Amino acid sequence: MVRLRHGEAEAVAALLGMDARSFADRFTRLLPDRSGLSLQENDDGTCVFLEPQGCRIQAAKPGQCRDFPLRWNEPGWETRCAWARGRDNEQNRREAGSQAIDA
Ligand code: SF4
Repeated sequence: MVRLRHGEAEAVAALLGMDARSFADRFTRLLPDRSGLSLQENDDGTCVFLEPQGCRIQAAKPGQCRDFPLRWNEPGWETRCAWARGRDNEQNRREAGSQAIDA
């Protein structure tokens, strides 16, 4: 489950050329505790934005995805994004290092 933080739905909607309401209706669902939104998933559990060539919303992907792999530590995380699972570990380390510098 990819949770959306404040402002992320609007950012992804803008990337897709949609208004935030249309984006939310089409690509998100309410969290079970009704505290916010998460991205919808395909029937096989993969993210709706996962495409063969990678993440469709790479330029505005949610912080939960940008945090990969250092802040993904719950059991089963590797099953949620096949793209992330298959990424080169060196790329992951470079991005994680860049985020640490930017933080
Ligand atoms: S990085 Fe993966 S889980 Fe995150 S939005 Fe992109 S396809 Fe979905």
